[in-house]
Amino acid sequence: MSKKVRVRFAPSPTGGLHLGGVRTVLYNYLFAKKNEGEFIVRIEDTDQSRYVSGAEAYIFDTLKWCGLTPDESVQQGGNFGPYRQSERKEMYRQYAEKLVAAGKAYYAFDTPEELEQMRHSDSTTSHQYDHSTRMKMRNSLSLTDAETKQLLASGSGYVIRIKMPKGETIAFTDMIRGEVKFDTSLVDDKVLLKADGMPTYHLAVVVDDYLMKISHAFRGEEWLSSAPVHILLWEYLFGLKNMPQWAHFPLILGPNGKLSKRDGAKYGFPVFSMNWTDPKTHETTAGFKEKGFLPEALINYLALLGWNDGTEQEIFSIDELIEKFSIERVHSAGAKFDFEKAKWFNHEWIKRSSAQKLLPQVKAMLIAEKISHGTDAQLEKIIDLVKDRCTLLTDFVQQTTFFFKSPDTWDTEAVKAKWNDEKKNFFESFAEKIKNSPADAATLENIFKETAAEKNIKPGELQLPFRIMLVGGKFGPPVFHIAEQLGIEETILRINTAIKLF
Ligand code: GLU
Repeated sequence: MSKKVRVRFAPSPTGGLHLGGVRTVLYNYLFAKKNEGEFIVRIEDTDQSRYVSGAEAYIFDTLKWCGLTPDESVQQGGNFGPYRQSERKEMYRQYAEKLVAAGKAYYAFDTPEELEQMRHSDSTTSHQYDHSTRMKMRNSLSLTDAETKQLLASGSGYVIRIKMPKGETIAFTDMIRGEVKFDTSLVDDKVLLKADGMPTYHLAVVVDDYLMKISHAFRGEEWLSSAPVHILLWEYLFGLKNMPQWAHFPLILGPNGKLSKRDGAKYGFPVFSMNWTDPKTHETTAGFKEKGFLPEALINYLALLGWNDGTEQEIFSIDELIEKFSIERVHSAGAKFDFEKAKWFNHEWIKRSSAQKLLPQVKAMLIAEKISHGTDAQLEKIIDLVKDRCTLLTDFVQQTTFFFKSPDTWDTEAVKAKWNDEKKNFFESFAEKIKNSPADAATLENIFKETAAEKNIKPGELQLPFRIMLVGGKFGPPVFHIAEQLGIEETILRINTAIKLF
């Protein structure tokens, strides 16, 4: 690649970051790293009416949690700043004015009422501001020069709109979709500069991609319909010189069409990276982080939600993704979100994580549950014993609590039917025999088997009651390993307590 790779993620701070947004970040990041390029995060906050406080901080928190650190952004700085569009406000007007001077854009003075009337009028064929309606509206194309000058001088509010040509075709090559064509007659005259002097997204995105020397503009499919406006602006303003290569990522689909916040609430799965509470409505949308996901698992799952490397491989570390990723292998069809699959990835990543790595998170959960968790060394051993059984990080609470706290309920139903005096007698003898024995799992298992043989009971029939005595329920790692961690004294105590209940 001849040009330095510079890609950007350009979120508008209007709320939490949904999965589609995180995947867009990821694909941008992977592409940048693979090509030794730069990954830029630009905050597109020109629409003040949709601005939500806290959303920008949330976006950066998500990037941090996912480990997708930008090379340039509001936080890192860089040579192409500022990276927040509201702070670049003064830069945009000159481009809009240049378009007006070249006859590619025009001033429009219509009031909200006039616009409303046009949208609901019976007499026009189109209800959008376009080639068929613009001459009936109040703008510098329909008014005389003198009228326009007079309106501008009088301080009357105005916007600048692009003059979309009629009946032309705009074509461009999308790196995923191939050649994409648009009929300009169907595109409306988008506002470029608003009455408050702020650019709209359409003008700002083109000007900034140009000024920030963006080589590749990758974004979600929802922006495909805006592409003709952007390409035309690139042509009018910069003669297409240095226009980035485009790619539009497929939608992430939920059970009914595009994955939405509502799907999350309805089906009980997270659709955001981290919990997000809307400051206005106080409504919380669940996040993967709080649900108990490792960022590695979310990244791995999202990478494959719309891309594969052409093999059967499913588990990829971020370094492997960087090595293998290519935009050309991103699918153009929508990718179906499958929470069970996401959980499968998390299980795989928990299994692959060292106890040392999992320790701080497990410890924090136990502390939150007010469960004393022993020493770090002990907790690490326990994490190693149980991690294969945890799909979500939150599962560690159930899987580790009984090591530190005697059960307060016992699944006696699971034992009762087959419980008898012989078994009771077995456990009394077993408890007696281990009193002075070492506490390692192998020794305990040997004594258990020997005692069972003496009493003529199959050890298999005794394991479940033993488990229920120690754990309270039918879960947990191999029972002799549990006893080893509990130690002799606690094991005997739990046997004696439970015997009375069976
Ligand atoms: N600001 C747009 C958004 O909120 C960015 C679209 C683009 O990347 O061009 O998603």
